Amino acid sequence: MSWYLVVDIRHWLDENEEPGVPQLKSKVDFLKELIAYETAFEAGMENFPLPICRKRPGRKPCKSPLRTMTEDNVQGVAGKVIYWQCPKCKDSGMVYGWEGLMCDLSGHDFEEESFN
Ligand SMILES: [Zn+2]
Repeated sequence: MSWYLVVDIRHWLDENEEPGVPQLKSKVDFLKELIAYETAFEAGMENFPLPICRKRPGRKPCKSPLRTMTEDNVQGVAGKVIYWQCPKCKDSGMVYGWEGLMCDLSGHDFEEESFN
């Protein structure tokens, strides 16, 4: 499981919730997309595009839709954790520390928005 990535996203962000260093931009973009998708899904909004795998095994883009899951009460982690796994290339990881960020859409009232 050497490819298993564990990220506290706040370590990668500056005070404006942007990548702390330019090299992290694509990874941060990926994680934000994942968090927005998963928290929107949990909030009842199922129309968000499924995050796509960005790995390039053998230099070929994988592009498989990822499996995602949110979990509470993970040992050693404060707050909720989002897991992802690619069914195709088996890339996987977990991210935490995202609660309250702009990409955290939990508690967002999508229904009210669509009626107004
Ligand atoms: Zn993949």
